[in-house]
Parts: sequence; C-alpha cells; structure tokens
Amino acid sequence: MRALQIIAAIAAGVLTWTLLEYMIHRWMGHDRRFRRTPFGVEHIRHHIEGNYFAPTWKKLIIAAVVLVVACIPATAIAGTAPGIAYVAGLMCFYGVYEWLHRREHTHAGIGPYGRWARRHHFHHHFVDGRTNHGVTTPLWDLAFGTYQKPTTIKVPPKLCMAWLLDPATGDVRAAHAATYQLGKSR
Ligand SMILES: [Zn+2]
Ligand SMILES: [Zn+2]
Repeated sequence: MRALQIIAAIAAGVLTWTLLEYMIHRWMGHDRRFRRTPFGVEHIRHHIEGNYFAPTWKKLIIAAVVLVVACIPATAIAGTAPGIAYVAGLMCFYGVYEWLHRREHTHAGIGPYGRWARRHHFHHHFVDGRTNHGVTTPLWDLAFGTYQKPTTIKVPPKLCMAWLLDPATGDVRAAHAATYQLGKSR
C-alpha cells in the first residue's frame, strides 16, 4: 500500500512536469506579454539561433530553488515520503525533458518515439510556433487544442540540424527526405 502511494506520487510529479513544460513554453516562451522576461529572451534566442540553449548554470539554480520550494507544500500536503517522491518525479522528468530537447537538436531520433518527438518539436520550430509546445508528450497540446500533426517540415538551410544535413549533397539526408526538406518555412 505504501509502495503504491509512492509510485502514484512519482507519477503525479511526472504529470505535473509535463503540464509545467507546456505552460512555461507556451506562455513564458511565446506570449508577447512575457517576451522581455529572462525566460522569454532565452527562448526567442533558442528559436533564432537554433543551436543555442540557455546556460546550464542558470537552469541548475532555478531547478535547485524549485526543488526546495516545492518540497515544502508537497510534504505538508502528502506527508514526507510521498511529498518527496512527488517532487523527485517532477524534477527527474524535468531532467528527461532537458536531455530529450537537447538530443532533438543534436542527434537523429531513435525508434518511433524519438522520431515522433523530433517531428513534433521541429514542426513547432519551423512550421507554426503557436502549436506543439509539449516536448516530451503531445498530451497538453491535445488538451489545449494546440496539437498539429506534422507533415513535411521545411527547415531553413541556415538553421538545419547537423544530423539532418548530408554534407556530401548539401541537402537533407536520404533517410529523412520523406519528412524533412530544406527551404523557407511558411
Ligand atoms: Zn518555442
Ligand atoms: Zn528546441
């Protein structure tokens, strides 16, 4: 019974992160009202430069603050062990998100999920920045009506990811030619 409680708390933490991932990206990253905030500025730079990511030290400071602050209400509401398990689930999945997002930009996707995650994210980058805000899951895009199923994704040549570009031809690698093209988006 105790173990089930802990597993449910971890799952709730993971689910909470996926909602935060969506909300932070959609509103802090793309709403004009938040464009001048530190997150808004970093996120716009990520879109403009393609291979730019906010410094890890900034992320670690924010993560440490969230870790401490979130533990207080979580343990008060759910009890010490489930509260810590909830925050651990949330923070660990935040780490998964950071890893996955970076890999999407730096490496070709492995398996159906890896390929889906890239197409979902690069549709957001290069086709319509008002859609596909989720990075690890389409769940909240579906819930909030911002999900779009990617078709062919046109990637501007100067923002093309190294894993997508064939240096021999200067075009997208043959393995991705059915789903990605070089060209001006929209
Ligand atoms: Zn974005
Ligand atoms: Zn990105």
